[in-house]
Amino acid sequence: MFNQFDYLPEQLLDARVENLVGILGRPTLLHLPGERQQPLFISTLLHGNETTGFYALQTILKRYQQQGLPRALSIFIGNVEAAAQQQRRLDNQPDYNRIWPGTSHRQCTETDIMATVTNIMRERKPFASIDIHNNTGRNPHYACVNILSAHSLQLASLFADITVYFTSPKGVQSSAFSDFCPAVVLECGQSSDNTSVAHATRYLETVLQLESLSADKPENLCLYHTVARVTVPEHISISTHGDADIVLKTTLEDKNFTELPAGYEFALRNKQDNQACMQVRNESNEDVTAEFIDCVDGKLLLKKAVTLSMYTTDEKAIRQDCLCYFMERLHFHP
Ligand SMILES: [Zn+2]
Repeated sequence: MFNQFDYLPEQLLDARVENLVGILGRPTLLHLPGERQQPLFISTLLHGNETTGFYALQTILKRYQQQGLPRALSIFIGNVEAAAQQQRRLDNQPDYNRIWPGTSHRQCTETDIMATVTNIMRERKPFASIDIHNNTGRNPHYACVNILSAHSLQLASLFADITVYFTSPKGVQSSAFSDFCPAVVLECGQSSDNTSVAHATRYLETVLQLESLSADKPENLCLYHTVARVTVPEHISISTHGDADIVLKTTLEDKNFTELPAGYEFALRNKQDNQACMQVRNESNEDVTAEFIDCVDGKLLLKKAVTLSMYTTDEKAIRQDCLCYFMERLHFHP
């Protein structure tokens, strides 16, 4: 089902993600020793076209090749088959970040792999878990958490001053690991952005060197809560110009993490039937479209102020995942 090694296959140090399928053949869990024995868990390539995490790890592993790691590392390299095709996932595969324990996906080989990896790591009592991703649309770098614990928030704040708290979708790696260790997701901007690897590498270095995590909630963290996920039903055509059921605005790609006011024109609707034709679902998976979107004279207008994240006009990304998330600012007092 997957490989488990307690050594580093040397070819990994210079491999391109496209070639990992030839080297590893399938998902792979590596355990590497370090001075502090409680391992740091890092997962990468759960989405095959999100490459920053792998290259950051490669930099770290090269750096410590001679001197030994300051802390043990457990590394999970996920969808090598999709990575070979530079795809998030292949059409015949489930999404590798929706099938971890807690998932509603039917049981299959991949859900068994993720459950086994989770059980193995639970027994190893990780120091922390870091899952590294990229976005399709333009977004600042930010971290995500699934529980608002001091340790998770501190881990998040070491990466960026923006943190997103979410509890849906289900079956994500960070949520499964939040059951037994502090866990974050890093969203490192677009894969093509070279500064992302440097940023992720600096972050991994910092966490590797940490002796412990503080029990204080970090101050000055800009915290958002995902309130809804926006999708477009299969049968609704989309484009960024005239001839489709819904016309998306490319200008919104620069509005991720900017609050949009009530009344804002979110998209255009090519039929005057006043159907929103988008689906907005809250964290409990209830349809809340009418709460957020008004359809007036061929325009989809926001009914209340929201902040977008992960907004993209890339059709494949929208079909495989979503158009965007709606978020609200979350204020809490440490
Ligand atoms: Zn991803």
